[in-house]
Amino acid sequence: MRKPFSFYIAHWIGKIVLFGMRLLRRTGSYLPGAIALRIDSNYLKHVEKPDHIVMVTGTNGKTSVCNMLRFFLESADRNVMDNREGSNTIEGLASAFLTHNTWRGKSHHEGSVLELDERSAIRVFPHIQPDVLLVTNLFRDSYQRNAHAEYIFDILDGSIPQNTKLVLNAEDPISGRLTLSNERVYYGIPLLEGEREQRNPRFSDLVYCPVCHLDLTIDFIRYNHIGRYHCTHCGYRTPETKYEVVSFDRDLKQAEFASDGTTNIFQTQTDGVTDLYNLLSAAATASECGIPLSAIAEYSRSLPPLKSRYHEETIQGKRFLSVLCKGYNPVAPARVFDYLQAQPGRKVLVMANGTEEEIVENMAYLYDNDYSYLNDPSFFQIFCCGERYLDYALRLRMADIPEERIVLSREYAEIPRLIAYEEADLICLIHDVSDVPWVRDLLSAIRKDLAQLQDKE
Ligand SMILES: [Zn+2]
Repeated sequence: MRKPFSFYIAHWIGKIVLFGMRLLRRTGSYLPGAIALRIDSNYLKHVEKPDHIVMVTGTNGKTSVCNMLRFFLESADRNVMDNREGSNTIEGLASAFLTHNTWRGKSHHEGSVLELDERSAIRVFPHIQPDVLLVTNLFRDSYQRNAHAEYIFDILDGSIPQNTKLVLNAEDPISGRLTLSNERVYYGIPLLEGEREQRNPRFSDLVYCPVCHLDLTIDFIRYNHIGRYHCTHCGYRTPETKYEVVSFDRDLKQAEFASDGTTNIFQTQTDGVTDLYNLLSAAATASECGIPLSAIAEYSRSLPPLKSRYHEETIQGKRFLSVLCKGYNPVAPARVFDYLQAQPGRKVLVMANGTEEEIVENMAYLYDNDYSYLNDPSFFQIFCCGERYLDYALRLRMADIPEERIVLSREYAEIPRLIAYEEADLICLIHDVSDVPWVRDLLSAIRKDLAQLQDKE
């Protein structure tokens, strides 16, 4: 395709802005792409792209899955580009091509792993047609922007290119039914040995059969609407999986994945089922890119820990966890609560996500989240902090959590002073941004207090 002169102007000016921002030590994740798109609105159509394009979208897990997927592809000597430094909107993708392509606009990568904001699909797919698209799941999320799961479903369903192969979650009957005419494979995790079902979730984005809209029969529910179902009215049932977890040894952090009659042992990052979904979906997608599952299993043993997302250390026998958890989201914190509830010992939880500043976003996510996991005596201190500390406290009381376990601390700096370190076996801080001073200060203050505790003993 002959590129118009406006493309080159957009590319060069975008690149100059990118370099300028780097000189100022600013991350050029949005602005350079936005400027390039302003000059050439078809910049993404015109820019040279790698031969094989993989994209990852969905409500939860995108970033973790992209990191794993890129690692698997690079381990197999594939030279891939990504948008890890930038945002996942159309502007962020344009910035990624500005970053990776040469001044002449050439791409030197054979493949790509691009994270895509699900809301932006409608603006991106006319310009970039992925060969493989992984959709992790669809939930209600960031209500003010994304409305509800059906709204996002319709955006994706109406814009996914027809030649794109889909990798889908069998236990999500919403995203699992995207563009039914496209080629697809499913991955899934059947109910695991010893796993607790969640038949009465706090909310579900799927109530009726997605086909005939009559009552669904539940085979099991893992959380919210994630589970397996069948319909006695129209015959709908959870689709057959190509990639499936056979067993999960939480102590050894090893899971057995089956596909096409063979099984392989994968090393998991944590003993949580959310991380297992991320790993399984990344492995399934890498396999669909032509890498043997046995090789991916081998790579999983050297997968670098996703430190920025989940960090654990033990100081004098006390576990200290910091978990990055999506803000304005009604599912992600509850997944962490569920995980924590299953952990042994007496726990302190500091909820510092989505509360760093006064934001007028629709607060329904905070009330939709499932706090019943915290109504467990092992959580003896639950900190409500930030500008929304009273909303959190009210919500905890609505979940019948006794007042004496709720600690109010609007100021983050006050939290370390209030933690009953001596009584705790596990201290967990959940937050939705990591690169801000108050999180760094809080983490180092808790670490310091724990170390001093060690000196005393
Ligand atoms: Zn039905």
